[in-house]
Formats: sequence, structure tokens, C-alpha cells
Amino acid sequence: MKWYELSERATLEVTKTDKENGLTAKEVALRQKQEGFNELAEGEKQSALLVFLEQFKDFMVLVLLAATLISGLLGEYIDAIAIIAIVVINGFLGFFQERRAEKSLNALKELSAPQVLALRDGKWSKTLSRELVVGDIVKFGSGDRIGADIRLIDAKSLEIEESALTGESVPVPKYTRVLEGNEIPLGDQENMAFMGTLVTRGSGVGVVVGTGMKTAMGQIADLLQNAEAVITPLQRKLEQLGKILIIVALLLTVLVVGIGVLQGHDLYTMFLAGVSLAVAAIPEGLPAIVTVALSLGVQRMIKQKSIVRKLPAVETLGCASVICSDKTGTLTQNKMTVTHLWSGGKTWNLSGTGYDPSGTFSAEGKEVNVSREKPLQQLLLFGLLCNQTTVTKKDKDYVVDGDPTEAALVVAAMKANFTRQNVKGDFKVIEEFPFDSTRKMMSVVIEGKDNKRYVVTKGAPDILLTNSKSIVWENRHQQLSPSGREEVQNAIHSLASQALRTIAVAYRPLESYETITTEQAAEKELVFLGLQGMIDPPRPEVKQAVKECRDAGIKTVMITGDHVITAEAIAKQLGILPKGGRVLEGHTLNTMSQSELEDVVDDVYVYARVSPEHKLKIVKALQAKDHVVAMTGDGVNDAPAIKAADIGIAMGITGTDVAKEASALVLLDDNFATIKSAIKEGRNIYENIRKFIRYLLASNVGEILVMLFAMILALPLPLVPIQILWVNLVTDGLPAMALGLDQPEDDVMKRRPRHPKEGVFARGLGWKVVSRGFLIGIATLAAFIIVYDNNPDNLQYAQTIAFATLVMAQLIHVFDCRSEKSIFDRNPFENLYLVGAVISSILLMLVVIYYPPLQPIFHTMAIAPREWLIILGLASVPTFLLAGSLLTRKKS
Ligand code: ATP
Repeated sequence: MKWYELSERATLEVTKTDKENGLTAKEVALRQKQEGFNELAEGEKQSALLVFLEQFKDFMVLVLLAATLISGLLGEYIDAIAIIAIVVINGFLGFFQERRAEKSLNALKELSAPQVLALRDGKWSKTLSRELVVGDIVKFGSGDRIGADIRLIDAKSLEIEESALTGESVPVPKYTRVLEGNEIPLGDQENMAFMGTLVTRGSGVGVVVGTGMKTAMGQIADLLQNAEAVITPLQRKLEQLGKILIIVALLLTVLVVGIGVLQGHDLYTMFLAGVSLAVAAIPEGLPAIVTVALSLGVQRMIKQKSIVRKLPAVETLGCASVICSDKTGTLTQNKMTVTHLWSGGKTWNLSGTGYDPSGTFSAEGKEVNVSREKPLQQLLLFGLLCNQTTVTKKDKDYVVDGDPTEAALVVAAMKANFTRQNVKGDFKVIEEFPFDSTRKMMSVVIEGKDNKRYVVTKGAPDILLTNSKSIVWENRHQQLSPSGREEVQNAIHSLASQALRTIAVAYRPLESYETITTEQAAEKELVFLGLQGMIDPPRPEVKQAVKECRDAGIKTVMITGDHVITAEAIAKQLGILPKGGRVLEGHTLNTMSQSELEDVVDDVYVYARVSPEHKLKIVKALQAKDHVVAMTGDGVNDAPAIKAADIGIAMGITGTDVAKEASALVLLDDNFATIKSAIKEGRNIYENIRKFIRYLLASNVGEILVMLFAMILALPLPLVPIQILWVNLVTDGLPAMALGLDQPEDDVMKRRPRHPKEGVFARGLGWKVVSRGFLIGIATLAAFIIVYDNNPDNLQYAQTIAFATLVMAQLIHVFDCRSEKSIFDRNPFENLYLVGAVISSILLMLVVIYYPPLQPIFHTMAIAPREWLIILGLASVPTFLLAGSLLTRKKS
């Protein structure tokens, strides 16, 4: 179908839809059934069986299985079956961990699924892009990604970047007129918008004519499937570490086996013990546990209203040293109410709260009748006409569809009884040039019922003033003299210093039937009409969050398009701008070179009247000063800075698709305080990963050393292979996972940010692993020797004691791993998962020791109660010996 050849009417007819009401819900459901969902076919997924089998491809596990097979053939059936059972259970565990990680990643994808504005049953509402059908009427604006193939029926300054389809990165202007000609290439179909392309400017409405694989994108979809799994820097580091540990563990194992054989143990026993030891000591589960810890952390972050789009960001979050935050909506509530108006030297106050359109106008304390105040009337009326936002009553609330700044103007006008409905007969809008944050203005061309036309512009007052030639003063146009300009500037200053956001309104009468086609032609030689000042209260939780960030060594910087005085006033209220802190304006930034900015960047806390383009310069300057930068943004033009930042943050509510796609983190509530929570969580996740690395490696060191020392001392094997495997599965597995769910330490937001290059073993972790591991090995061996010396004929009993000591030493040590300082710093019952994991490990150990049918399998015997004193005493040594010494060191 050549949709570009069809007129609007023909398109609506062919797709059987209605321009005013869209499709009905019933029709949509029917079409979804017939056409399927609007999605591109996905690549093959790995089957569950394959994922399961992958768990056994590890080299040492294969060796273990082979060794088991041999022992089975040699008649050791019980050992063989038990070992295989443990390996299979281990496989299942790995499988479920991997599945869980995958599931949460998919859930993330769904959460960030694109939405579109569609007209259905006569109402505009947000719909998931995948639910679009042919015939849907959709609306989109700058920053949106087009959700399906669309024939345009309305386009206002619309430009779309189609490089995803055509490779051409310069945006193409779009119109609605019918095109003629055969086989017009995609890039020239200027009345069409295609799935996956990006709106860079303006806005549009269109009819969906193709969905899913039947879109232009669908035809090349095969080329787009690049579902490569991302791994984080930490995961990469751990993979490298894992390789080193494998070699170390293998060497030590060979040493154990070699010495054992030299000391007269038989080769076969030593071989099986050695392989079991290697399987236990190689932390093959580490990457999977790290992934689970990361993804569980990510899920906790969702509950706190932030979505991680790029997993590595979780780690980088903990290193953030500067947060550059937008003001409007992030630090403030973005609920605007006009409270002050100014025109021709006169000021009015306006009462009322929020978007409720009840309130009265007053001047110098006395109520005024708006119909007698000509300039005030015009200021309100033009604020309403040069405006794309609607405010409607829903139940008891007022709902804004559009931009809060514009909503405030609509509500102010309503308070004087101007509504679009009321003024429809008097004026119509014939051209619109939408707002963008680089121009900081918006304009319309309107025509009165007397056929007179005007340009009406509203925007940042300082900029409008520059573009104005005259001013309305005492109901007359006057040339703007230097003193007149000064007067206006004083008025702007006075409103801004009360932390008010200010919007100016200006206009220019046109010749009748004069048409204006560009914003440059519209926004010049204006007549300055007046100002509207609105409050935008700070979010109540932000002040505290800024303080917490400061305590955590993180600087908060405000970046705003707003007026410098307004920005400064709000920054002071929020505690962002300290004494002596600098405020820099966009025009100063323009004149500074990159290195000049670097010289001062550490002193600047507020950037005002900046354009999105400045943000990139700021990020780069901060990064040059070795900062790890988090940067927020919402618009198309913010995307480069979001991408360049170490942690790009997009707004979930007001953010455009482009900003979200460039970001690593999306704030569901657009709230600054959420960034703080995410950073806290990021720090916690990293600390938790350190905690279980510490636990697992210290346990492994202990397991290897007990065997090595026993061989050196010419003792029998203190642990049999199945016991080693059991410890690896139960004692190492569950508590390590529970450490991944641990609560943050109290001072996690009191420390300085972590250096991004810091290694995993930094801050004494390596020493802790080696020293605790060494002591666990020694304690286990001591228990073995004491009991074995007493009763050399009963090796199995001594082995059971060694087994119990090893398990208990690890289970006590796990509580020490929760703190960077000392075990006494934390309440052990805080982490109930850990308490549960430890209790179940203890119970499973008791079952293996005391349940007669299991005793032959695990080579255990019932332990006499008094022996538990030895076990518990020795098992406490590794943790408490050093905890005590650390404690005294801290006190001194
Ligand atoms: P932030 O960057 O913190 O979100 P901001 O919202 O003030 O700050 P912009 O949206 O770029 O940044 O707005 C810059 C200026 O443009 C505002 O101070 C205001 O004067 C003007 N402005 C904002 N919205 C509109 C609009 N819809 N129409 C006309 N002018 C606007």
C-alpha cells in the first residue's frame, strides 16, 4: 500500500477509523486479535534445558563427574551416587539463579517499554506501544520515538530523524500533503512517520497504517537483533579474578594430592579428594551470585522508584561524586501557580493554590476588577492563547495535559474567566511554533474575528525583552527606551528574587493575511506586554537529600534554564548553594573555553539560563577534574550529556524516549531524593558483593588449608570428598546469597565515594580473607587432631568433628563479613535471611551427622554432646580472635 498517495480522508476510510474519536476499545481488541501485537519478532531464546546443561560445562565439574564414574565402577556406589546428587543439586541452584537473573532483566525491559498517546473512544490516553493497531490515531512530540508506521494528518514544525531506517542523520521536515509519484523512497515520504524513528522537533498527529513486522522497520528487523548480554566492570574483574583463583586452587590441590601421595596415602583416594577440593575451592558460583545480587539490588531500586537501564550503572552509582540536577520538577514540584503579574509598571497579586481555578486579583492589597484593567486582561488572554496545555476537572482534581508552566498560565486566565471555550469565537490560532529550551520561547499567530492578526510570543523575560522594540505602557505602545528596559529588568529581578519562575508575554500586530512561516520571523520586533510570576515549591524531601549527599561526599549542582536570580533563591532554600559558592550563567559559559571552565568548575554550584547544549560542557569539565558525574535530563537535547555522564539519569514522567534511551537510570517519580536513594542502594550492593566475596574466599582458603596442613603433618584426610562437596553446596551457598541481601551499614552514606579504580580487595579485604581463612583452616585441623589423638582407631569420628568445626567456623564467620569494622558493630538478627540461612545450614549439618541412614553416605558419626564444646570453642576463634584485636585497635 502506498499510503503517501492517499488523502487524509482516504486514509481514514481505508483504515476504518474516525479522526475525532479514534477506534473503540472493542475494535482495538478485535484488530489485535487479527493483526497480532505491534512488536518485532524476537530472536530465538535459549531453552531451559540448555541453560540447565550449561551448569555442568565447567571443567572441574566434568572432571569430578568422571572421577565419580570411576569410583562407581570400582564399586563405591554410595559415594558415586551421593556426589552425583550433590552436583545435580548444585546445577539446579545455578540454573534457578540464572533464570531469576534473566527474569528480572526481562521485567526491567517491560517497565521501560515505550508508551504512546492514542485516541480511543474519544479520549487521549497513554497506551503501550505494543498495543497499537492499524487505525489508531496517535499524537507525538519532540523527543518521542515513533511507535508504528503512521500517515500524518497534522504536523506542526515537525521534524523526524530517520537514521535508523535511512542512515541519514539529518532530521527531515514532515508535512501532511498528499505525495504523487511512483515508488517514492522512504526518506522522501514526507507525510509518513516510521516506527523506530525519532521526533526531534515540533509535534504531530497521524493514523497508524502499519504495525509489527508489517512496518518498514519490521522488514529490516532481522538486522537489528543484537541481544548481547551486558556485563559490568565488576563482573569482568571477577571473571579475571576467577581465572587466577582457578589456577591457584588447582596448584594447591595438586600440592595437597602430591604431598598426600608422598606421605603414603593411596592415589585413588587422594585423587577423588583432590578433585572434590578443587570443585569446592574454585568459586565457580561467584559470577552467578554477583548477577543475582545486582539484579536483586535493581529490584529493590525499582521499589524506591528508580529503574536501572544499564547494569554497570549500579556499580558506578556508588562512585558518584557530583550530581548535576535539573531544577524544575526534580528539585521542585513542577506544580506551578501564578501569584504575581506585572505590566506597564503595575503589579497585581493573584490568590489561589495549585491548579484550582479559584482566586482573586488584587493590587496594593485591594481586590481589582479584571475587566477594568486592560493590560492585565490582555496579559492573561495571550498567556492562554499562546499555549498548548489543557487543564480539566476530573472528579475533584484538576488534571494537566501538557506543560505545568503553561498550565499555570491557563489557570491564571481561568481565574479571570478566560477559557479556550469562552474565547474560541473571538480568536483562532492559525500557526504555532512550539517551545524549545534553546530558544526559551514559544509563539503563535492568531486571528481575531475582525480578521486582524497578531504574533503572540511568551518565554524567558530577558530574552523576550531583547527581542522587543516597544512596550505597552499606560495602554499605549511606546518605544522601549534604555530607562524603560531598566524598569522591566527591575520588575523581572523583583519577581525572580522571590524565587518565582517568570514568563513574559509579548506580541506584534501583523498586516491582515500576513503569514509567518518561521519562528525567527515571528519572534522579533515585539511589543513587550508584561510578566507572570509563578511559584514552584521545592520538593519537601530534597533539602534533607542534598544534605545526606553532602555527608556522603557528593556535591549537588543545580542546572536550570530558569532565571539566575530565581535559581539562586531556590538553591539557597535547598542548601545547594553554600557561602562563597559560585553561580554561572549560560552566556558566561558561552564565552569560557573548556579549560577555563575546568579551572572554576569545582566552585560552581548553580548554572542558570543554560541550554541543554551547555550540559555536555559541564559534564566534561567535571570529568576532567576526576569527578564521577551523575547528570539528569529529559529532552532530546539533553541526550548527549546524559550519554557522556558516568551515570546518565532520565526523568520517567517528563522524560522523552530519547533521553530515556540514552540514560543508565530512569527516575520513576522525577525526584532528586530518588537519586540519593539509588546512590545509597548502589553503594550497598557493592558492599554486599564485597561481603560475600570475603565470605566465600575465606571459606575456600580454610578448606584448602586444612587439607594441605594435614598432608604436610602426615595426618590422615581430615575431611572426606563428600563432606567437602557438602560444605561447598550448603555452607557456602545459602549464607553467601543471604549476604547479598544484607542491609547497608549505618555509615554507608557517611563515607566518601569509592574511587572507580578501587580493586575488589581494597580497604583491607584481602588481608581479612587470608587471615580469617587461615584461622578457619587451623581451627578445623586442631579439632581434628585433638579428637584423633585421643582415639586414633576412630578416624571417622575425628573427621565428623572436623566437618562440624569447619561448618560452624564458617557460619560464625559469616556474621563478621557483614561489617567492614567489626562483628560487634552489627546486630546479627537484623538480616533475617542470613539468620534463616545459618539455621538451615546448621539443621542440615545435624541431619547429616545424626540421622543414621545418612551417616554411611557422609561418613559421619553421632557426636557426643561434650565434644560440641571443643567444636564451638575452636569454631569461634577465627572470628573473635581478630574481631577482638580490631576492637582494641579502634579504641586506642
Ligand atoms: P530546568 O532545566 O531546571 O528544568 P527550566 O524548566 O526552567 O529548568 P526550560 O524548560 O529550558 O528550563 O525553561 C527555560 C525558560 O523558558 C523558563 O525559565 C521560562 O522562562 C521559559 N519557558 C519554560 N516553559 C515555557 C513554555 N512552555 N513556553 C514559553 N516559555 C517557557
